[in-house]
Amino acid sequence: MDITSYFALKTRFIAAFRSDESPSGPAIWFIFQGEKLLVAIQDNNTNDICTRSPQQLGLVPIFRQFLGQYGTTNCFVAEVAEKTSPPPSTRFTGLRTLFGTVEDDLFILAGRAVQILHWHREHQFCGKCGTAMQNRQTELARICPACGFVSFPRLSPAVIMAVTKEDHILLARAPRFPSGMFSTLAGFVEPGETLEEAVEREVREEVNIRIGNIRYVASQPWPFPHSIMIGFSATYLDGEIEVDNDEIEDARWFSAQDLPLLPSKITIARLLIDNFITSCT
Ligand SMILES: [Zn+2]
Repeated sequence: MDITSYFALKTRFIAAFRSDESPSGPAIWFIFQGEKLLVAIQDNNTNDICTRSPQQLGLVPIFRQFLGQYGTTNCFVAEVAEKTSPPPSTRFTGLRTLFGTVEDDLFILAGRAVQILHWHREHQFCGKCGTAMQNRQTELARICPACGFVSFPRLSPAVIMAVTKEDHILLARAPRFPSGMFSTLAGFVEPGETLEEAVEREVREEVNIRIGNIRYVASQPWPFPHSIMIGFSATYLDGEIEVDNDEIEDARWFSAQDLPLLPSKITIARLLIDNFITSCT
């Protein structure tokens, strides 16, 4: 598979914008309680995304929205109140635990659903004049009927990079990581800089080395809570590793034969590291 499209949907999704649409036919329902998604429990204790509506499940949603069409299936997002009990044979579960237990496309769509839900929750009123916002009918945006202020879904771009030095890769540890785990460096893009400048700056800030040959590899939507991870490769130019001791507590060069505990397959960090391992064999 082409690495660039690793985290892309395999089936086409066409987004819907109108707030009053509610088409019938085969459906997937992403029903959230806070950050947790309602899933149907299968006999072998795996999860399945709900295909029944809140109404069919006997739930009263406090929010619902048609998201769009995935192939020939209609996708909806809904939210239920905090104290709502899950219907029989269902449970509320964290999004990350879905990875690998549902189809990859459904995991990506669940991430889209929770971000649309967050956006509606946090942009109910105009940030300029306080009037209740409405969905724009022609694009994924909310507009203030009083002053015309437009709000788009919040997305925070972050760059993540595999820096290599001959047959070694630079991996670092943040204090919050599980014991023994190392990953690639990453950080948020700042206003006014290009993605390549962000890559160069993050590496300089966190380990104080200079890099070159910065090349785009792949990207990954990361709905925790509203990022898009943009992955790069780069090569070492000069400098000795000096960790910043704030975001990073340790950073080292690792060979493919001597790697530490790595992040899970859910992450683009792991894709970049696996890509490095492949390039060494
Ligand atoms: Zn306004």
